[in-house]
Amino acid sequence: MGQPGEEKKVRAMNWIAEPHFQGWTCSRCEWKYPLPTLLNDPQAKTAYDRLASAKFREHACADHLARLAPEPGKNFAVHIRKLVAQGFKPKDAVEIFLQEVMLEHRNEPKVLEQARTAGDDFLRRVRNGLL
Ligand SMILES: [Zn+2]
Repeated sequence: MGQPGEEKKVRAMNWIAEPHFQGWTCSRCEWKYPLPTLLNDPQAKTAYDRLASAKFREHACADHLARLAPEPGKNFAVHIRKLVAQGFKPKDAVEIFLQEVMLEHRNEPKVLEQARTAGDDFLRRVRNGLL
């Protein structure tokens, strides 16, 4: 089970700049270190980058959700399938998944919406025997 090569993916610190999020993220998990709003002073930004880099080195990917790639719908599905592979019933897996997403993205209604859709899609596919 699982994607070949997924475990070997090199852990890297990635800069993300999106309308709803700016900051450093981990390439392997959902660890993130958001850029504080109104941080314009270059020296303050450098200090922030240094701090982010230290925090990045300290974090354990296992403590965070696996990184969701740019196509959330698709990758949410991967996440749910992982829970099922761990032995959860599909319905319970979706429940756990939604709780995790809600903790991580409680201020991002769009992501929550996508997660709910992914959960519904997943259960619908299970019911239809497509998985
Ligand atoms: Zn990580």
